[in-house]
Amino acid sequence: MKAAVLNAIPGILEIEDIDIGEPGPREVLIRTVAAGLCHSDLHFMEGKYPYPCPAVLGHESAGVVEAVGSMVHYVKPGDHVITCLSAFCGHCSQCTDGHLSRCENKNTELVRQPGEAPRLSRGGEAVHQFLHLSSYAEMMLVHEHAVVKIDKEMPLDRAALIGCGVTTGMGAVFRTAKVAPGETVAVIGCGGIGLSAVQGARIAGANKVIAIDMVASKLDLARSLGATHLVNASETDPIEAVRDLTGGGVNYSFEAVGLKQTAEQAFNMLRSGGQATIIGMIPVGTKVEIHGPELLSEKTLTGSNMGSNQFRTDMPRFVDMYLDGRLKLDEMVSKTIAIEDINAGFEEMKTGTVARSVIAF
Ligand SMILES: [Zn+2]
Ligand SMILES: [Zn+2]
Repeated sequence: MKAAVLNAIPGILEIEDIDIGEPGPREVLIRTVAAGLCHSDLHFMEGKYPYPCPAVLGHESAGVVEAVGSMVHYVKPGDHVITCLSAFCGHCSQCTDGHLSRCENKNTELVRQPGEAPRLSRGGEAVHQFLHLSSYAEMMLVHEHAVVKIDKEMPLDRAALIGCGVTTGMGAVFRTAKVAPGETVAVIGCGGIGLSAVQGARIAGANKVIAIDMVASKLDLARSLGATHLVNASETDPIEAVRDLTGGGVNYSFEAVGLKQTAEQAFNMLRSGGQATIIGMIPVGTKVEIHGPELLSEKTLTGSNMGSNQFRTDMPRFVDMYLDGRLKLDEMVSKTIAIEDINAGFEEMKTGTVARSVIAF
């Protein structure tokens, strides 16, 4: 099958023909229908986060079940599924405590064991599966705990976005921060994840949703998705602007860029008792500094991984929100591309002008 392989870091993706195995007892074989280009893939390609090579990248996808292993009862061939990198074991203390996205066994129990044939290979050599998924391929072979079944009415190219960006942004609002109606929210960075946080804040009933970015076209998109106020950080100091708009600071800020500077801004635009949630992937080795005495005003700085999701609950809810018109995904897909155009898609992402490109298989 055709797949986009990362052979060296830093590096670009090469379209190659690779082999995929048969489903083991608890595995699901999926025909990939759509896969989104997420900034996290780019972080790995650029070497900001380590990963073993060769690997098939991609982790935001949706497709149709082709075959299942002997012990899989949850899905059957023909079912439509969204994949999620927050694969869970179901029995570690984090899982049983309801924090499935923090599963402690995901990298030991949900992968093929030593001595077993690899899920992905190339001329007999193992190819690493990226984050339990490897979505930039015509087929995916995953653990059954990495998929959620969805309504067949849901278009799969829109469903793919729910697989990472939407769940990360909306989950940060609903599950990590738990924004309540009437509260004030600021979102720094209006890419796919930031725009999802903007939509989450709107759906949660926030009174002010302040979108911050340096690209005017992204701010316009944020307004159409629910932002009540826009701040162009290339023209204005975002901390001052947020304080002015809210009479001292927001209840909740969300950082969806992944930089030291914007993480510190997120903390510094809070009112007393406010919470800053860092969603962006701050490069390994980078430290974030806050002014210690600020903690006396009971401000919180926290992170959110994949929106603290319980994805088998959350993703079908997001599907319903799309189908009833509250969650806007059509506006977030800037472009549909072929897998051969994947590197051009990432180049375009670097310019900061596109919200989301989606590969159609
Ligand atoms: Zn992602
Ligand atoms: Zn677990």
